[in-house]
Amino acid sequence: MEELSGLFHMAADHAADYRRSLPDRPVAAPVDQARLADAFSGPLPSAPSPPERVLADLVAAAGPGLVASAGPRYFGFVVGGALPAATAADILAAGWDQFATNAITSPAAIAAETAAGAWLKELLGIPASASVGFVTGCQAANTVGLAAARHQVLAEAGWDVERRGLLGAPPIRVIAGEERHATIDRSLRLLGFGTDVVEPVPADPNGATDLGSLRAVLQAGSPGPTIVCLQSGNVNTGACDRLREACELVHRHGGWAHVDGAFGLWAAASPETRHLVDGLETADSWACDGHKWLNLPYDSGFAFCARPGAHAAAMSYAAEYLVGSGGTPAGADLTPESSRRARGFAVWAGLRELGRDGVAALVGRCCALARRFAGGLTSAGFEVANEVVLNQVLVGFGDDARTDRVVAAVQADGTCWAGGTTWRGRRLMRISVSNATTTEADVDRSVAAITRLAA
Ligand SMILES: *Cc1c(COP(=O)(O)O)cnc(C)c1O
Repeated sequence: MEELSGLFHMAADHAADYRRSLPDRPVAAPVDQARLADAFSGPLPSAPSPPERVLADLVAAAGPGLVASAGPRYFGFVVGGALPAATAADILAAGWDQFATNAITSPAAIAAETAAGAWLKELLGIPASASVGFVTGCQAANTVGLAAARHQVLAEAGWDVERRGLLGAPPIRVIAGEERHATIDRSLRLLGFGTDVVEPVPADPNGATDLGSLRAVLQAGSPGPTIVCLQSGNVNTGACDRLREACELVHRHGGWAHVDGAFGLWAAASPETRHLVDGLETADSWACDGHKWLNLPYDSGFAFCARPGAHAAAMSYAAEYLVGSGGTPAGADLTPESSRRARGFAVWAGLRELGRDGVAALVGRCCALARRFAGGLTSAGFEVANEVVLNQVLVGFGDDARTDRVVAAVQADGTCWAGGTTWRGRRLMRISVSNATTTEADVDRSVAAITRLAA
């Protein structure tokens, strides 16, 4: 046991030292991928190794290939840096090594999910009666939401999709914004719909689903089983669909409204941005991430469903040897995974660490910093291509080739990191402010570096 304690301390000390270095290290140091691969490769050892030796070798091998994406000047994708208590709780989840399938296999894991789920619903303004599946991320949450939708719209048409599948089933219309996230399409593939099923709805100028077009698409088809995918937080622009009006349209046509709100749903947690997701409580299912804007460790997403019965019908499974939790569906009854990491501990810890005010401040601060970015880059003479409504900023530096050169130069420089994207046929730099530790000084330093490199 002494040895185990030494080993765990080594890992924790190393992780803490690494975290402490984040504000000062180059965000993405140039990597020789072949050398990195070499450090990990070699023949499968035939003999066991002492754990301390294994850990030391891992630290040495991985070091040169780590990206400081948890640091304050990483603006790529929509990436946060895991909060201290949430990270420590995740370390405990590994140490406790719980099998979080249900309340028999880990009563503590399910209790943490139950409490954290209630807090999440309260923060987001999702009805308290909704079910919550703690999944690996928003991709999985979209799959779960759409599986529940598939169950319900077909049940209403007299078809048991869990038993009979989609072959021979009544046709389902799937309507989605043309600027939906690509994971919606993968969820549709996994669920047997295929991607050709999608009837796309044009977007408004900032990338939200255009309501008039949604109405027209709904009216153009025949009534019957219908699923509509809405979005809070366009992955390029941050634009949010007008959920109250959109859900009303969907429901008037007897459809199911699913909201992909991987990061944008968090607009609900701040009084300054709450209006962007007005009416979200009227949707039927919601997908959201913990590991993006909430700054939780990776492998953390939430699938909420207004109809817990449809959610469980789509996801739960039984086997002779399995002991269920009995009564209310929980844990693996609401997710696509069977054996599961106890990810609820980190969610519970992160929410306790921030509190309601802390979550609101995190969302408000990131939006203010995104506006500061946009202001700084506009003053420097560059073009901000989107209306900055949330934490996303798109920047053009002239023609596509020049923008790509600036993005590459910024990534190589290491002061900050931003990705490139194509939006409405143009190459743009995509800046996402999602980290709890980012300061005004970090933004100013990044604007100065981008300006210098673009000159
Ligand atoms: C990131 C994102 C997803 C996918 O989430 P993962 O956590 O990567 O699975 C889905 N939708 C939107 C809008 C996103 O931003």
